[in-house]
Amino acid sequence: VSNEALSRSGDETTGRRGQVLSLLRDHGPLTRTELARRAGLSATTMTRVVSQLIGDGSVEEGATVSRSGTGRPGTNVSIVPGAYRVIGIQIGVGFVRGGVVDVMGRCSTTIGFDYRTGSDAAGVLGSVVEAVATLSERAGVPRDRLLGIGVAVPGPVDQERRRLLMPINLPWRDVAVADRLEPASGLPTLVEHNVRSMALAEARFGAARDAHSVAFVYLRTGIGAGLVIAGQGFQGGVHGAIELGHLRVVDGGAPCVCGGRGCLETVVSERALRATLGRLGLDDDGREPLAALIGVSARRPDVAAELDRIVGHLAAGLAALVNLLTPEVIVLGGAFSTVPDAFIRRLADGTREATFPTIRPSVTLRRSSLGMDGGVNGAATTALDHFFYA
Ligand SMILES: [Zn+2]
Repeated sequence: VSNEALSRSGDETTGRRGQVLSLLRDHGPLTRTELARRAGLSATTMTRVVSQLIGDGSVEEGATVSRSGTGRPGTNVSIVPGAYRVIGIQIGVGFVRGGVVDVMGRCSTTIGFDYRTGSDAAGVLGSVVEAVATLSERAGVPRDRLLGIGVAVPGPVDQERRRLLMPINLPWRDVAVADRLEPASGLPTLVEHNVRSMALAEARFGAARDAHSVAFVYLRTGIGAGLVIAGQGFQGGVHGAIELGHLRVVDGGAPCVCGGRGCLETVVSERALRATLGRLGLDDDGREPLAALIGVSARRPDVAAELDRIVGHLAAGLAALVNLLTPEVIVLGGAFSTVPDAFIRRLADGTREATFPTIRPSVTLRRSSLGMDGGVNGAATTALDHFFYA
């Protein structure tokens, strides 16, 4: 946690704090005995680690539980959710959202604004700096209880997770996000790809808490995926997301922003779905375009046929993900969080049909627990992983 707290801890216990806190986050409350068993530590070491965590307010003792079998009854230890907080900022394409998030991933004070997608990065970052100041002030969290800032960005980030390299849907290049925010806020800052950060949030606190491997699929301006395997965010060779949207699903299809043709994004992305609505003479009525299409499909056979085509291509994309990576759970986020359950079930059926037979029974699709702007939770989870659970 803080440098002071870290310097107080001895060699034996250093590096164990994160492990113990993670166990309590995922399985708590637990007794010291149970913690020691799960962490593979001696009872003495565990007692010391827990004392430190109680000392800095990260955990507390709760009810005394009598264990089954032999031995003394133990006292449960659990995380104090409000012990520390982080600030999560999502920089989306045309919008920024922010929130103050506790160590159990719960978001309290929030803030947000929109910007023109032609704006330069420096101007938008200036507004983000102001938003961070406003958030800290409104939340009223003591300075030493605020651990840092996580920023979720719509594109790949550098190795050190300090810069946004090249968002495909914004005219920005190599933006030094952390270098701008750290001196202005006095808080350590980490930058992560938005889709990857949301995958992590679903695995830690959300719809995939119970799963060993999770694929998070995010539909908004584009469609991308993030993977979490055995609790670890998957980092491929490039620090972006899995470019599910650029899987070719239509032979000789429409041109794509990536320079290719017939990519999934030419069928399923906000832009493509809006174009489809327009072609069918429909309005979005203030809804997400996918939800709007689903809404009228029951009374318009031509819309229903179009939706069949969309589901088919989407299912082909998801089936490719399943065949290649076999995640236990696929969590559908962003604009998917606004569609009815029946559509998720239909998509799951379509995905199963297109999946290798022996994998079929394991295909599980869930709706995101994070809503449209899951990037705030994603950004915060990235910061918590680094500044609290490490
Ligand atoms: Zn493409």
